[in-house]
Amino acid sequence: MSAPYDLICIGGGSGGVASARRAAEYGAKVALIERQRLGGTCVNVGCVPKKLFWYAAHTAEAIADAPLFGFSVANTRPAFDWAAFKAGRDAYIERLNRSYENALKQAGVALYRGEGRFFTRDTVTVDDKDLRAKHIVIATGGRPFVPKDIPGAELGITSDQFFALKRQPRDAVIVGGGYIACEIAGVLQALGTSCTIVIRAPRVLRGLDRDISDLLEEAMREQGIQIHPRAHVESVARGANGRLAVALDNGETLTSDVLLWATGRTPNSAALNLDGIGLTRAGDGTIPVDAYQNTSLEGVYALGDVTGKLDLTPVAIAAGRRLAARLFANQADAALDYRNVPTVMFTHPPIATVGYTESEALAAFGAEEIRTYRARFTAMARAFAAHRPKTLMKLICKGTEERVIGIEMIGDGVDEMLQGFAVAVKMGATKADFDATVAIHPTSAEELVTMR
Ligand code: FAD
Ligand code: NDP
Repeated sequence: MSAPYDLICIGGGSGGVASARRAAEYGAKVALIERQRLGGTCVNVGCVPKKLFWYAAHTAEAIADAPLFGFSVANTRPAFDWAAFKAGRDAYIERLNRSYENALKQAGVALYRGEGRFFTRDTVTVDDKDLRAKHIVIATGGRPFVPKDIPGAELGITSDQFFALKRQPRDAVIVGGGYIACEIAGVLQALGTSCTIVIRAPRVLRGLDRDISDLLEEAMREQGIQIHPRAHVESVARGANGRLAVALDNGETLTSDVLLWATGRTPNSAALNLDGIGLTRAGDGTIPVDAYQNTSLEGVYALGDVTGKLDLTPVAIAAGRRLAARLFANQADAALDYRNVPTVMFTHPPIATVGYTESEALAAFGAEEIRTYRARFTAMARAFAAHRPKTLMKLICKGTEERVIGIEMIGDGVDEMLQGFAVAVKMGATKADFDATVAIHPTSAEELVTMR
C-alpha cells in the first residue's frame, strides 16, 4: 500500500474534481479515482453537450427568422449537418477532458484510472491497488434510470446514448416530462426532428408553477412538439423497417426512429461496498448526508448527485469546495447553503427560477403574507419572429417589507438574467430595492425592476 493520502475522492466529475483541486490547493495530499472520462456527467453527457445543442437550435431559429429582419436567405431551413456538429462538439469535450487532467496534475492530485471500491472505512481499492486516507469523499454521481418491466424497454436509449447518436433521427418519442425530456425535445424539434413527449403526469415540469409550465407547453406545441399527458408506455417493438413501435396504455401506438427514456436518474452507490463498511444508504440508493456532507461514517463524506439533494453541477462544485475548506483550511463552519439555489432549464424558451415558487410560498406562509407581482409580454426580440412565445416573470414577495423570496421566469434571455437577481434574493433584497434600481432599456430584464 502507498503512503496514506489526506483525501481520496471517488469520482472525477463536477464534485470530485472540485473537492480534489481545492484540497490540494490548501496543501493536502490528494488522490482522485475516475473509471471513465474526467469531467463526469456534466462535461461528457450532460450540461456541456446539451448546451452546445441548444446553441445549434438557436442558430436554426435565427436562420428561419432572418427574412423577417430583412435578410434574403435562399433557404430558411437549411439541412443541419449532425455529423459535422457532433465532430466539433466531441473535439471540444476532449479538450475539456484534457484540461481537467492538466488542472489535476498542476494541483498535484494523483489520478487513478479505474473503479474505486471501499475495502475498509479508510481504504479504497482501485484495480489491484489499495489507497488509504483519513478523509474520503464519495462523488460518484448518477446514471439514467429506465423503467423496469416494460417489454422492449431496452430498445430505447437514454441521454447518455443520445449524445452518441451518429445520425439525426427523423422523429423521436421522449418519455418523461422533467428537465432532460423538455430540453432535448426543444433542441431536437428546432433542428428538424419531430418529437413526441409521453408523460404520466397531466403536464410537463409539474414541480413548477402551473402558469410557467403551461406557457412552456404552449410554446412546445407551437414549435410542433406533440405531448401525450397521462400516458404510460406498455411495450416497445422494432418493426421490419427498423422503426420502433411504442404502444401506450391509451390504445395509441407511436412509431419513431428513436425512443428516449428521460425518466430520472439513479445514484451510483451500489458497487462501492457501502454495506460492507457499514455506511448508511437510503432505499433509493442515495447517500444521506448532514449539512456538512458527513455520511453516517466519520471521515467519509458524500456530495453531488449521489446524495440526491439538488442534481446541479454548481451545487456539486460548491459543496466540494466548502468541504475542502472545512477539512483543510480551518474553516470549521464551511458548508453549502442549499437554499436559494438558482436554476435554469434550457428549454425553448428557457425557464429560470430561484427561491420559492408562488405555490410553495403560499403553502409555507399563507395568502396574507405573500404578494406576487407579474409581468407578461412578448419580448421585442420576437417582434418580427414567426413564433412569439410569451415571456412571464413573477416576483414572489413576503411580509409587509415585501422581501423577494422567489423569482420565476420563462422567456428569451431569462437564462442569462437570473444570476445577478439571484444575488439580490440571497442578500434579502426587497421589492423596494428592486424598484430603486433604474431600468436598462430596452431589455426584457427591465420588467423585473418596474413591476407594479
Ligand atoms: P458526476 O458529474 O456524474 O461525476 C461522477 C463521476 O464518478 C463520473 O465521472 C463517474 O464515472 C465516476 N464514478 C462513479 N462511480 C465510480 C467508481 N466506483 N469509481 C470511480 N469513478 C466512479 N446541471 C446543471 O447545473 N446545468 C445543466 O445544464 C445540466 N444539464 C444536464 C443535462 C443532462 C443531460 C444531465 C444528465 C445532467 C445535467 N445536469 C446539469 C446535472 C449535472 O450534470 C450533475 O448534477 C453533475 O454532473 C453532478 O456532479 P457529480 O460530481 O455529483 O457527478
Ligand atoms: P426529472 O426528475 O427532472 O424528471 C423525470 C421525469 O421522468 C418526470 O417527468 C417523471 O414523472 C418521469 N418518470 C420517472 N419515472 C417514470 C416512470 N417509471 N415512467 C414514466 N415516467 C417516469 O429527471 P431528469 O432525468 O429529466 O433530470 C435529472 C436531474 O438532472 C434533474 O432533476 C436536474 O436536477 C438535472 N438536470 C439539470 C439540468 C439543468 O440544470 N438545466 C438539465 C438536465 C438535468 P413524474 O413527474 O410523474 O414523476
